[in-house]
Amino acid sequence: MATIIDGKAVSQSVKDGVAKQVAELKEKKITVTLAVIIVGDDPASRVYVNNKKKACETTGIVSREYALPADTSEEQLLELIDRLNNDADVNGILCQLPLPAGLDEKAVIAAISPDKDVDAFSAVNTGHIMTGDYTFLPCTPAGITEMLDYYNIDVSGKHCVIIGRSNIVGKPMAMLLLQRNGTVTVCHSRTQNLEQITRQADVLVAAVGRANFVTADMVKDGAVVIDVGINRNADGRLCGDVDFEAVEKKASFITPVPGGVGPMTIATLMKNTVTAAKKQNGIL
Ligand code: NAD
Repeated sequence: MATIIDGKAVSQSVKDGVAKQVAELKEKKITVTLAVIIVGDDPASRVYVNNKKKACETTGIVSREYALPADTSEEQLLELIDRLNNDADVNGILCQLPLPAGLDEKAVIAAISPDKDVDAFSAVNTGHIMTGDYTFLPCTPAGITEMLDYYNIDVSGKHCVIIGRSNIVGKPMAMLLLQRNGTVTVCHSRTQNLEQITRQADVLVAAVGRANFVTADMVKDGAVVIDVGINRNADGRLCGDVDFEAVEKKASFITPVPGGVGPMTIATLMKNTVTAAKKQNGIL
């Protein structure tokens, strides 16, 4: 039976550290502030934004919500971002994705000042991941490495297989595991003989977005299994990409959904926001 990685506990320890830093900055008259932009009324986006605002409250970060109607023009959205870029009281800016059709996500991400891009989605911050010379890391992959550290899981020399090559999860995850001296394979929708590759994985990261995609026969005995997926199963319950019940019996460590990677993503966002505030105030 695998050790179940407790994302809630690890995220709490990260948030405790953030709260301490936020309080120290307050003594220096610095109020750490995150601007959260949400466009339209996508229910999943609303849930994510509310969770992020809640994490701000618990860490002492001030969140400013900008809820815009679905018919907001790109010009209006870019104007708001420009205003927030130039607002010295705002340390971090996040624009909840996906955006309604007609808004160019790439243009919106590019408009956020790299110093305030606490999601680390911009080309500048993404580029810094390649060189290893970064201020912010994308929240989900960075949250995963934080969990690995918490459980003393060393990936050095290990075969790390990632399923999924998105810009926000798969690709940066590959870079972070490579920096930790993992031997990294990135699989995707065109990968042939996927099971043969996943069966070689000492560390398997699933970021596909399909319930029960990773079955027990795809997993090596003793593998560390990280489930990034957020899906609904046939009963409408939240689940990941991994067949948890079956894979738990083979893995050495496994993250549950909910309560695994998700809380780490939000905790890392808080960490990035406090880092942004420090950097902008010459403290880092
Ligand atoms: P995405 O849709 O951008 O990418 C999915 C990836 O899966 C693609 O790279 C694709 O090539 C790959 N894929 C699809 N079908 C495949 C197949 N048959 N075989 C192998 N690979 C296949 O998704 P994303 O943004 O990377 O998110 C992935 C999942 O993680 C989603 O469920 C998303 O909701 C979830 N997610 C969770 C968190 C969190 O905090 N827990 C954060 C981000 C994303």
